[in-house]
Amino acid sequence: MAELEALEFGKSDFVLLDEVNMEQFMENLKLRFEMGRIYTFIGEVVVSVNPYREMDIYGKEAISAYRGRELYENPPHLYAVADAAYKAMKRRAKDTCIVISGESGAGKTEASKYIMQYIAAITNPSQREEVESVKNVLLKSNCVLEAFGNAKTNRNDNSSRFGKYMDINFSFSGDPTGGHINNYLLEKVNEEQVGVHLIKRCVVCLQANSDQSSHRAVRTALKVIGFSEDEIESIYRVLATILLLGNIQFGTEEEIVQVEGDGEVVSHIAELTSTQPQQVEKALLFRTVATGGGDVIEKGHSEQEACFGREAFSKALYERLFGWIVGRINSVIEVKDYNPMLHGKNTVIGVLDIYGFEIFDNNSFEQFCINYCNEKLQQLFIELILRQEQEEYEREGVAWQHIEYFNNQIIVDLVEQNHKGILSMLDEACLSGGRVTDTVCLDSMSSRLAQHPHYTDRKLTPADKTMEFQKHFRIRHYAGDVTYSVEGFLDKNKDLLFQDFKRLMFNSTNPVLKDMWPDGGLSITEVTKRPQTAASLFKNSIVALVDKLSCKEPYYVRCVKPNEMKSPVLFDAARCQHQVAYLGLLENVRVRRAGFAYRQGYSRFLLRYKMTCEYTWPNHLMATDREAVEAIVTQHGFQDDVAYGHTKLFVRSPRSLFSLEQERAAL
Ligand code: ATP
Ligand code: MG
Repeated sequence: MAELEALEFGKSDFVLLDEVNMEQFMENLKLRFEMGRIYTFIGEVVVSVNPYREMDIYGKEAISAYRGRELYENPPHLYAVADAAYKAMKRRAKDTCIVISGESGAGKTEASKYIMQYIAAITNPSQREEVESVKNVLLKSNCVLEAFGNAKTNRNDNSSRFGKYMDINFSFSGDPTGGHINNYLLEKVNEEQVGVHLIKRCVVCLQANSDQSSHRAVRTALKVIGFSEDEIESIYRVLATILLLGNIQFGTEEEIVQVEGDGEVVSHIAELTSTQPQQVEKALLFRTVATGGGDVIEKGHSEQEACFGREAFSKALYERLFGWIVGRINSVIEVKDYNPMLHGKNTVIGVLDIYGFEIFDNNSFEQFCINYCNEKLQQLFIELILRQEQEEYEREGVAWQHIEYFNNQIIVDLVEQNHKGILSMLDEACLSGGRVTDTVCLDSMSSRLAQHPHYTDRKLTPADKTMEFQKHFRIRHYAGDVTYSVEGFLDKNKDLLFQDFKRLMFNSTNPVLKDMWPDGGLSITEVTKRPQTAASLFKNSIVALVDKLSCKEPYYVRCVKPNEMKSPVLFDAARCQHQVAYLGLLENVRVRRAGFAYRQGYSRFLLRYKMTCEYTWPNHLMATDREAVEAIVTQHGFQDDVAYGHTKLFVRSPRSLFSLEQERAAL
């Protein structure tokens, strides 16, 4: 029972700390981790510490213990949050979402899988076949996405290289009817060359052809989802192509750039991609350019350009493949033939598993995008949790003690504001032609943002005025200061892939490959007009994500990584404290404490607890529901722990509710 838990294993809800400060927070987190209690609440938020060992807490018994129960009735668990989100969706027809955040290796993806498994386990009690098949595909999709989208990094053996948002649709009766996946792909290749990194990855994927059972599982999963043999074959052909591209070398003879060797690799690539060897070779060595006068000419690459082109092509092949797989899964799981008149409202639970804040020794464009994304999510968190909370108290006429919190809108604006934000400046630099270098762009940015309180130009930090820091700028993020190296920003933002490669793939006689490159049919003049940059694409996808989340009732899982060694016993206090700080957990506790842990409309409250009070059971003679609720509260002696709103009762501590629940259960 939750209450007992609290005594033996520290506080099961940080709201119950004697005092809200970092010291007490950390002490409780550590104690619980060491006692094997990896989950702790902050109200409805679950804080999770990666146990780095198998825990016997996810089985059938646990599922039935949490099923249909109220959040505060059981010890903290992912299942409690999953169930709360599910109940809100089913009972109140609310769209809900579960946002899982934390740094690499903190346990986000594992958490998202447990949540999905829980939802799968509690739905479709009558085992209807079509629902079972939807569930099966949803669960299998994880396996496929992981096989193609995860990689071993030095921080996590099974690191997701993409952010994932999955909507699960539910019928009126609360059974899954389908879903939709959005991926936010960002190759994070800080540590290695793109080529080497991709090749390693492809080797792993290709082993799916081998007999190893884990790899065969991927093939099986693809089949279960509904990929045809041709499609599966094509997937492996693309992977093999990427591998072969790594073997292509260029040389210059009599000032002409050529592919080295006897053409065998090129022929092999052509065979795999169902194209002509001459076309492959041409795409590797030439690019089509639209001249100022409107002519279209073919221009030979320098050796360096050819290498750049080949790398960009490998990377794009991989990204397209992944995007195509996601799209194909979506086409299988999307809800078809849905008729709201017939089936009632279609509700949704969204699950977001996305990379957390990143601060490395060397931070580049990728970290900049990821950290921007986290600013946006923090902004949403502030908006949804803090502001809604305050607004509700005002609406209900409940006295509210104002809480100071840092509103990070100013940082979001610094990054994304049209014309004035860093993203716009990067795009301007990219679109203004080849002359602008990273450093020139940095100079212009620094002069325009000189006055911004969250932006620091290298010139303003004399201590850093070494040559090394000449190419850096610093942003004061809500989670802390991050210094970014501007080197490579513009190239990464342009994310340039010569149209010739797209055309090559578009002209493949393999329909699956062609399908991955719909834009290969555009002419060079059309393409040159308005190339989209990586940053603007990323921004659009994040803005769309935030829009999706903001109309849903949010639930949060905040994941903490206890140490760098993947150890099940080590609690690295300094590292954990850092994460607690940038996840904003203390602030979260303050809001919950200043506020009320629980609230319920008077009539609903009455419905649930009227039998625990002699004045309200079997009938209440009070003039209003509110008076009846007052009678219950007073009889149970927690009148000092509540506030009465216009339409709702607000209860400060979960304990009061707990005693009510106990009494109700004992009847
Ligand atoms: P990334 O951002 O790199 O994708 P992540 O937050 O998704 O990281 P996970 O892949 O979920 O991290 O977790 C990393 C590893 O930690 C897992 O492979 C597993 O070994 C271990 N782990 C995480 N959560 C649990 C858990 N609840 N029980 C047991 N082991 C866990
Ligand atoms: Mg992950």
